[in-house]
Amino acid sequence: MIDPTHPSLEERIRQMITATGPMSLADYMSLCLADPQDGYYTAQRPIGAKGDFITAPEISQLFGELIGIWMRTVWQMSGRPMPFHLVELGPGRGTLMNDMLRVVCQDPEAAAALHIHLVDISPTLRAEQEATLAGFQQTKSWHETLDSLPSAPLFMVGNEFFDCLPIHQWVLSEGRWHERVIGLDERGALTFGIGPVRALAPPQQDRAFGTANTPPPAQGAILEHSPASEAIMAFIAGHLGDHGGAALFFDYGHAAPGYGDTFQAMSHHAHADPLRAPGRQDLTAHVNFDALRRTALAELGGRANSITVPAIITQGNFLLAMGLLQRAGQLGAGKSPELQDQLQDAVERLAGPDHMGELFKCLALMPAGLPLPPLATA
Ligand code: SAH
Repeated sequence: MIDPTHPSLEERIRQMITATGPMSLADYMSLCLADPQDGYYTAQRPIGAKGDFITAPEISQLFGELIGIWMRTVWQMSGRPMPFHLVELGPGRGTLMNDMLRVVCQDPEAAAALHIHLVDISPTLRAEQEATLAGFQQTKSWHETLDSLPSAPLFMVGNEFFDCLPIHQWVLSEGRWHERVIGLDERGALTFGIGPVRALAPPQQDRAFGTANTPPPAQGAILEHSPASEAIMAFIAGHLGDHGGAALFFDYGHAAPGYGDTFQAMSHHAHADPLRAPGRQDLTAHVNFDALRRTALAELGGRANSITVPAIITQGNFLLAMGLLQRAGQLGAGKSPELQDQLQDAVERLAGPDHMGELFKCLALMPAGLPLPPLATA
């Protein structure tokens, strides 16, 4: 229900900027996505054919099933810790969890030990998750943040979770880094600008981008940094290092550091202006997998459990190594040509280089020495 007396999110953002000056992209993203009243995830229905974007689990059950096999195998190879805490971060409509559970529950011991955890800020999506997962009788717990997860081995998955966490952007202008901010133009409309000069390089530049091989940035270069994502990754790595378990994340992003502006809005399956319609379109940025991997490695040192963070691989390579083609062949055997075409189309969309196969990457934290993709490299 639209309350005419309640100012729109855009109006509230303008008032904040008028009162306290331009805001960081991170603050803008947090308000647009997670504002309790008007945030995109808290107040809208974003995912699916009728929403603004479609995700891998919504394309085909193949995605969730292969991840389910990975989770079940890692749990089995970790000595079957009980309870089997299966955790999803940002579960959307619950489709991935549903597909995983079917496969995980093929092992009766796993089915009996399961405790399902869903971490999500969206009340509307939570209702969808409850409906999707109603057929599974196991205990389900919903969490708004990771802090309330149990101090026990956790088997975690997240698809398109990190891309919606807030980022900061820094712009190089005349040899100095400035934070990129959002202010108001003469007509009062939201506009990008640059903040005052920072005496120092952007915080954590080394971790975010600074390897010896990175070419020096040019005038106007943009550096992105997501302290929120790194804080969550540090928490996950610390937790797995202390208590055991494994984690698997998929998202679009880059495996090597680089410069560039990846802040974008999606509305009705098309790119849109991120400063338009705050709270009514999805805002994302490409995930800096290199920074997440380094964060995890830094956090894991000296912990009780030997967890490795294999080199980043593409989603296509992960799914193919997990048997995507064989599973698609199995599902299609003896079925109608239409169904076989659908499966072939799904394989192409999930793993084809022109679709999700290469742009999407896979990051894992897993017990050392497991013969599962993405195998650890020295
Ligand atoms: N994994 C799902 C949905 C991806 S959309 C799929 O692949 O279809 C992102 C999901 O993350 C949504 O469920 C959204 O509500 C949730 N989300 C966004 N920001 C979050 C945050 N800060 N903490 C927890 N969940 C968040």
